[in-house]
Amino acid sequence: MLRHDVPASELTTLAVGGPIATLIEVTSETELLEALEGNPGALCIGGGSNLLVSDDGYDGVVIRSHATSATGFQVDGDVVRVEAPMEWDSFVRATIESGLQGMEATSGVPGSFGGAIVQNLGAYGQEVGDVVVGVNVWDTIDREVRQLSRQECEFSYRDSKFKNDPERRHVVLSAHLRLTASESATPRYGDVTVLLGERTGTAGPYPLTDIREAVLDVRRSKGMLLGASLPSAGSFFTNPIVDEAQAANLETRGLATYRRADGARLTSAAALMQAAGFERGFHMGNAALSHLHVLALVNAGGATTHDIVTLARHIQHVVFTEFGVSLVPEPVTLGFEADPFA
Ligand SMILES: Cc1cc2nc3c(=O)[nH]c(=O)nc-3n(C[C@H](O)[C@H](O)[C@H](O)COP(=O)(O)OP(=O)(O)OC[C@H]3O[C@@H](n4cnc5c(N)ncnc54)[C@H](O)[C@@H]3O)c2cc1C
Repeated sequence: MLRHDVPASELTTLAVGGPIATLIEVTSETELLEALEGNPGALCIGGGSNLLVSDDGYDGVVIRSHATSATGFQVDGDVVRVEAPMEWDSFVRATIESGLQGMEATSGVPGSFGGAIVQNLGAYGQEVGDVVVGVNVWDTIDREVRQLSRQECEFSYRDSKFKNDPERRHVVLSAHLRLTASESATPRYGDVTVLLGERTGTAGPYPLTDIREAVLDVRRSKGMLLGASLPSAGSFFTNPIVDEAQAANLETRGLATYRRADGARLTSAAALMQAAGFERGFHMGNAALSHLHVLALVNAGGATTHDIVTLARHIQHVVFTEFGVSLVPEPVTLGFEADPFA
């Protein structure tokens, strides 16, 4: 389906942003490929849950993937093949129903499967990049379909080869993931583990369906489910990666750091914001911090992209002045003449 001058506020979970000049909607890998072949230079989006579009909109062609019952999901032993338009949470539910363990802790994250690969979606100790076998992409420069191995995707914390690539060379069409054939697991994330322990009186392992319910309940309590809070893009800032000197400085000021399996040392963006004086509900104009989660910038009603950017920049400035750490926005920006956060 082709539409013109579609407000980005209708296509993004922050519900802000000006008109997209041309919008093409697709629901399968085949339709996505056809749209790409017919529209060189088009930009691909999914659920718009990690996207900040300028108030001036975007004067180009956008291909939007969204799922229908026809969107492809196939299981072959412990390997699943998933098409980019599939909704992430439907994918997670389908893996649990197939007796496959590995992504249950990411239940409830909005957006498309393709968008999840781009962002190396992760939650509560699980990350999609860890289970990717290979990704099928459209190469917009060589104009051909290619298969990239997990290593070639360069997954890291909330990042991949595909995110923020100025050439936007690769469009995710589908991917193969290898999961573990198991009906149960022991989750690694504190809040979810505590809740399951309280509910069952055991230390696990727990059925995947129970883990999913616990994750959804924890997310709901933090406003991290769509509809459980005001419009947002989830956590607006990633947890910053810090060097040894920054880590030492933060720790003398009572702020913890932790090391990921890939060696990167991180600190909590939410803790930094709170230590810098920001509380839930803080607002500037029509943009605010969620009442449920300090890291979620929300559209408190009638916000523009300018409002969201102004609040985010203010937080970045105060945190940097206080702690010398740069907060990096998680959403991808579109339609700006220059990086609004530079
Ligand atoms: C309430 C809420 C909670 C959230 N919680 C989490 C969380 O726990 N963990 C987490 O990781 N994220 C979280 N997010 C952020 C977001 O849901 C994820 O990043 C999601 O994977 C984005 O997918 P999308 O389809 O919405 O991408 P979009 O926002 O549509 O696009 C994001 C970027 O991906 C690109 N893109 C999309 N599809 C493709 C494709 N097929 N090929 C190439 N590029 C593509 C777009 O061009 C854009 O650059 C949350 C968001 C919200 C609103």
